[in-house]
Parts: sequence; structure tokens; C-alpha cells
Amino acid sequence: MKIIHNVADLPRNLTGSVGFVPTMGAFHEGHLALMRRAKAENDHCVVSLFVNPKQFGANEDFGRYPRDLTADAAMAEAAGADFLFAPTREDVYPTDLVDVVVRGVTDRWEGAHRPGHFAGVATVVLKLFNLVRPDLAYFGQKDLQQCQVIRQMVDGLNVPVRLVIHPTIRDADGLAMSSRNRYLSEEHRAKAPLLYASLTEAANAIRSGSSVASEEESGRSKLEQAGFLVEYFAAVSLPGMDPLIDLPGKESTSAIIVAAKIGTTRLIDNVSL
Ligand code: AMP
Repeated sequence: MKIIHNVADLPRNLTGSVGFVPTMGAFHEGHLALMRRAKAENDHCVVSLFVNPKQFGANEDFGRYPRDLTADAAMAEAAGADFLFAPTREDVYPTDLVDVVVRGVTDRWEGAHRPGHFAGVATVVLKLFNLVRPDLAYFGQKDLQQCQVIRQMVDGLNVPVRLVIHPTIRDADGLAMSSRNRYLSEEHRAKAPLLYASLTEAANAIRSGSSVASEEESGRSKLEQAGFLVEYFAAVSLPGMDPLIDLPGKESTSAIIVAAKIGTTRLIDNVSL
């Protein structure tokens, strides 16, 4: 695996398809699953590692976000990455005068709770697409709204890449893997699986005919009783991320999404309905 720090050193004229996995590092099995799949489905696997300052709010964890290039490089190589692109901030943002703004799908949920977050995500992902020029790009369903935002960007700007969404990888107790899980104290880590448990419980109840509103309410209150600060617990229709009133027909897709803080750690998760 080749580690690349400068845009000028990115490979050009590779023969065969390029599968691309954009990341912010602190790798876990979720990232590695995307890399293995990108490698299996393409001739070349390019992984980017860039903690993108533009997608963090002023009071968020940019400064303390886990960074360990040596450990990450070893894991990416073992997962089959051919290139690890870890650019500097100056290389990615020699100027910062252009933003990619996706409207509509960003209005609620993460978009509402993290103002500017999705403009930061869309901007860096489009820049990375233009630098890496992948045929296929791999994203995790764990960040469901992010997937919809990138889909809208790709469709809306005719970006020549195919998106692949990979299912969420979880710890044995159901907790969705996340780089932020390492912030959790032992006590909070023990409570964290309740997020996924409450999502699956609500999804099952809605599928069995219970009302969306009552399951949203009981999911939220179960989490609050356990000490979570719930930002949202909501059923949404896809791809627009609009609030879901009733379980739609089989032809439409929907999900239940949650964002909650336990202590100072903010976690998100979702399950398909
Ligand atoms: P991040 O480094 O958190 O920006 O994540 C990089 C990519 O990995 C994104 O497409 C995420 O959605 C994906 N990802 C993160 N956690 C998981 C997980 N537990 N399962 C599957 N994909 C994930």
C-alpha cells in the first residue's frame, strides 16, 4: 500500500476500476468492511483519511478527534487498500471560497442539529471525488442522512461516480461501530447498546401495526430514562428524510433514525423499516 500526502502524488491513469472509501480515520471494522468490499469489487482500492475541519461545528470534537496514522495505515493495508490518501489541510483547502450546499434532504435531523455539517461533508466529498476520480465510492448506512445528501449531490451535479451503500457493522451487543465509541466511559459503553435495541423494538412494533408517533415517543422516553439526551428519535421516508406518518407500502423505503448524547458523546444510528 502506498501512502500519499500530496494531491500531486495521487495515481493517474490506473488501468481498471477504482473503488474509493472516504474516511476520517480511527479505523474500526465498519471502515474495514468498506475497504474490503471496494477491493473485492474493483481493480484498485483508494482510501482517503482526512479529518475534515469544515464538517465540525465550533463546539464539536474536531480538536480531540482520534488520529493515529500509523495504526490506520496498517489496518487499511491489511484490508486490501492499495493507496491511502492522507492529505494536509492546506492541500485540501488551499482556499476556502466554495461550498457545496444540498438543499431539502439537509433541512432536518443532523442538518438541523449540526448547522453547516452537510455543506462541509458535501464539499469535501466532491473535492475528494474530483481528486481521486473513482468509478465507485463506498459509504456506510450508519450515516444514513449523509448517504442521502451525497446521493443528491451526485445526481444533482451529474458527478460521474456510482455510490455503494454498505450495511452498518455492529459490535456483538448491537452498538454501531464508530470512531467516537472510544470516547465512552465504561458505564456509558454499557448503556450504549440501548440505542440499537430501542430502534429495533420500535421498528418491529411499527411493522406489527403500532403507530409511528407512539413508537417514537416510547423510544425517546426509554432512552431518556436510561440517561440519554435524545436529539431526535424519528421515523423517516427515504430518500428525502421527511418525517414518516404511517408505514408506507412495500415499494417505498423508510427508516428509524436516532441521535442521542450519553455523557459528552454524541451517537447516531438507524434501522431500516
Ligand atoms: P467516518 O470515518 O466516520 O467519516 O466514516 C467513513 C465511512 O465509514 C462513512 O461512509 C461511514 O458511514 C462509514 N462507517 C462508519 N461507521 C460504520 C459502521 N459501523 N458500519 C458501516 N460503515 C460505517
